[in-house]
Amino acid sequence: MIIKTDKDVIASYLHDESGLLGAHCDKVFIPETYQEVSDVLKQASFDKTPIYLSGAGTGVTGGRLPFGGVVISLEKLDRILDIKPGEIRVQAGVPITRIHEAAGSIGYIYPPDATEWDASIGGNIATNASGSRSFKYGATRNYVEEIKVVLAGGKVLDIPRGKYSAKGRSFDLSADMHFNIPDYKMPDIKNAAGYYSKENMDLIDLFIGSEGTLGVIVEARLKLLPMQGYTFAAFAFFDKVPHALDFVEQARISSAVDPLAIEYFDRNAIKLLKKKFDFMPDGPEAVIFFEEEITPEKEDCFLDNWAALLGNNGVNIEDVWSATESKKEAEFKNIRHEIPVLVNEIIRERGIPKVGTDIAVPSERFREMFDMYREELSGSGMDHLIFGHIGDSHLHANILPKNEQEQEKAKEIYLKFAKKAVSLGGTVSAEHGIGKLKHAFLREMYGDSGISEMIRVKKYLDPGFILSRDNIFSEKWA
Ligand SMILES: Cc1cc2nc3c(=O)[nH]c(=O)nc-3n(C[C@H](O)[C@H](O)[C@H](O)COP(=O)(O)OP(=O)(O)OC[C@H]3O[C@@H](n4cnc5c(N)ncnc54)[C@H](O)[C@@H]3O)c2cc1C
Repeated sequence: MIIKTDKDVIASYLHDESGLLGAHCDKVFIPETYQEVSDVLKQASFDKTPIYLSGAGTGVTGGRLPFGGVVISLEKLDRILDIKPGEIRVQAGVPITRIHEAAGSIGYIYPPDATEWDASIGGNIATNASGSRSFKYGATRNYVEEIKVVLAGGKVLDIPRGKYSAKGRSFDLSADMHFNIPDYKMPDIKNAAGYYSKENMDLIDLFIGSEGTLGVIVEARLKLLPMQGYTFAAFAFFDKVPHALDFVEQARISSAVDPLAIEYFDRNAIKLLKKKFDFMPDGPEAVIFFEEEITPEKEDCFLDNWAALLGNNGVNIEDVWSATESKKEAEFKNIRHEIPVLVNEIIRERGIPKVGTDIAVPSERFREMFDMYREELSGSGMDHLIFGHIGDSHLHANILPKNEQEQEKAKEIYLKFAKKAVSLGGTVSAEHGIGKLKHAFLREMYGDSGISEMIRVKKYLDPGFILSRDNIFSEKWA
């Protein structure tokens, strides 16, 4: 095991993409075996040393950041252990990009397409990451078939899907291991807020999305799907926002098209993109990026079907940028990826974290949420942009404060958004998790009783409260 204590080296573990400042710790452990992870946890449980878990550090909620204690970095557990048609077994530190490459090499895909491919699979599972293609394929959770987890006391638990199920809301895992899961009802939409809890659920789902608070994921077996033809990708430009929204609603329910992704950028996002891609047009109020997998049977009709939908909403198919071969499609995806990257560059320059929503609501209530974003943000006088996974009624409204005063004002606006989302049956985090930045919003969603029930589960599995303190809920509430 590598142990780092040099301050300059440790500094690289003290930031992520949240911009949260003030992280500190004295030591970073970099285990090369599961036994080493177990040994560190056993000792830490004994000494009550706080442990923070680091994947690739691409998280946007401060989840990996230590405030005291020590870091376990999973970076050296980075082997692909096995791959065969339909499945891949990997260690937690493997970057997503290598999983996509390995799957592609045998004619398969790993469907969750969280935009940031430098992230580790451990981080993706811990946050139940998802992305644009979740519109068709769902989040990471749907593709995790088995995990190996090291619990706080050092015990290594194999959890294949289907082996451990709750009876109602109780898990009886062995003679000395039984606990109840929270009673709250989760929204029936894309969701990454708090612990997963449902009657008769599988134990694996409790760990997926638990943000490092219940155990260290060291290995996972993931489902792969056969590759379907090639991908058609397109940017459609809309003069007016309502036309873009109508197009999205029609594309969602149309039986003529089968979108893989439907993404939205507002005018401010387009302006930001122009910094890097000067060919982005000036005029449109909104851009929709969409993709569809084209199989031989769709070949003759897919363009006509999209042209009809676009035409209904004032866009001529000739004005659409489209890609049907992989190099150009990758360029398009890169344009989409650059929005959060450019946002992160600005917040790094300003030294003030952005305030970015990760809210999703049921589709039938989406316009109410969207109208509120536009009204509040345009009246705020602060730099902002709206982009993201509109197919899933899940947009990122980002406010980029210039100073602490603006940051406080932005947080107040976010709280209003969170309350509204909850009132519409939505979630305060659909993909990034709660981390250290969004406790107040989770409280809006599940109330104090829901938080206490989560803490009860946490205390059962991690009695010393050593793992990933202050992720999801405040340690002070324990
Ligand atoms: C440009 C950009 C675009 C992004 N787009 C998306 C997107 O489309 N969808 C999306 O979901 N996210 C997105 N993200 C956020 C980020 O990529 C995800 O949250 C990702 O899952 C974090 O993985 P990581 O390996 O970087 O984890 P880290 O940032 O290192 O950690 C994230 C959390 O996971 C926990 N963790 C890490 N490894 C383990 C482990 N082995 N066991 C237990 N807990 C662990 C940490 O404690 C922490 O709480 C984006 C980020 C950037 C910078």
